[in-house]
Amino acid sequence: MKPNVIMLRLGELTLKGKNRSRFEKVVFEQVKKAVLPYPKLTFVLEFGRIYIHLNEEPYEAIQACLKKVLGLASFSPVFTAPLELAAIQATSLAAMEGLEDEQAEFKVTVRRVNKSFLYDSQEMNKLVGGYVLKAMPTLKVNVNHPKVELKVELREKLAFIYSQNVKGMGGFPYGTNGKAMLMLSGGIDSPVAGFLALRQGLKLEAIHFHSYPFTSERSQQKVKELAGKLCGYAGEIKLHMVPLTSIQTRIHEVYREDLFITLLRRAMFRISEKLAEANGAMAIVTGESLGQVASQTLGSMNVIGRAIQLPIIQPLITTGKQEIIGIAETIDTFSISIQPYEDCCTLFMPPHPSTNPSLRIVESIEKSMVWLDAEVDEAVRLTEQLWIGAEDKQQFASLF
Ligand code: ATP
Ligand code: MG
Repeated sequence: MKPNVIMLRLGELTLKGKNRSRFEKVVFEQVKKAVLPYPKLTFVLEFGRIYIHLNEEPYEAIQACLKKVLGLASFSPVFTAPLELAAIQATSLAAMEGLEDEQAEFKVTVRRVNKSFLYDSQEMNKLVGGYVLKAMPTLKVNVNHPKVELKVELREKLAFIYSQNVKGMGGFPYGTNGKAMLMLSGGIDSPVAGFLALRQGLKLEAIHFHSYPFTSERSQQKVKELAGKLCGYAGEIKLHMVPLTSIQTRIHEVYREDLFITLLRRAMFRISEKLAEANGAMAIVTGESLGQVASQTLGSMNVIGRAIQLPIIQPLITTGKQEIIGIAETIDTFSISIQPYEDCCTLFMPPHPSTNPSLRIVESIEKSMVWLDAEVDEAVRLTEQLWIGAEDKQQFASLF
């Protein structure tokens, strides 16, 4: 027997009132987008839950899509049965038969919504529990701390029966906490930072700085692939490709090798802030992790961050490399990130970058760089925008 309905539970159950219904609406839209390739599905939104009627569409493939929907706490494959005792018993057994642990402790919970049903919930607990135990004698009953809960909902027309609880992505529904710009390099960290920001309900546009022709087309391709992976959670992402070569070359001519990275990164943030303002984003998200490299010491980050007014969100700031790699593997960006490529920041990279630059000195050097504002504006002007769709183009094709 196959499940014919999927019951979806939303996350952040503590949310109340207006926010809650707004969030429900967003999750519902995202769910529909995620399962777009399956046209026979039908949907019912009811008391904060979404029911998907499969209508013969494949459960396994659809559950893989659902696992990426942000804000979805969990879901259960549901077996339906007509409101007859024998059918409910047989279906309950079918719902338990896929169980991995045949010696699991379980209990049956029956909820009788349809009060005209012949047996009340207590009686049904026994009738269903007894039937399942007889067919699966290795199971044990534990009413207080069961490992598996077999739920039987006697609804108006049908019984809904389920025992499995599949964990969803959780977090906030897509975009419900506002919009930010993600500085997306081709490295390991920034895609992970982007994923965490998406999961926290931020809508993202991505910014990538390239030093073409010193950096290759291939390195830009890699960034598009990484953005594509993030689209698995976001649906689509606008990617801003910023040419950095000119400003980078001019900063290199300043002849303060130790401050090259500091000055360059301040320029990158200035450009990002302008792009954020032009696109209605209220923060910049980056993949810094404290102490990882010279530009990620507190001293450096302080001086770099002061170049702009917008908040800089660094989801990975206290996360260690191994943990970051773990997340990168889960979201399938790691193998792309470790492909060799030239980063814009490796061009003119000094051997001894400062780890504790002086804000006063940096600001006075910038005052002497009279061309700086014009270069920043020019980089913004020459920025190219492209839309990245989902990894599975087919899946989101109709949305473009
Ligand atoms: P990542 O693995 O994300 O590249 P990293 O450890 O290599 O990070 P840095 O190169 O110092 O660290 O970059 C710090 C952050 O600055 C990155 O996480 C990213 O958010 C941003 N960044 C760096 N290079 C670029 C780039 N070429 N385009 C866009 N953002 C960048
Ligand atoms: Mg990097």
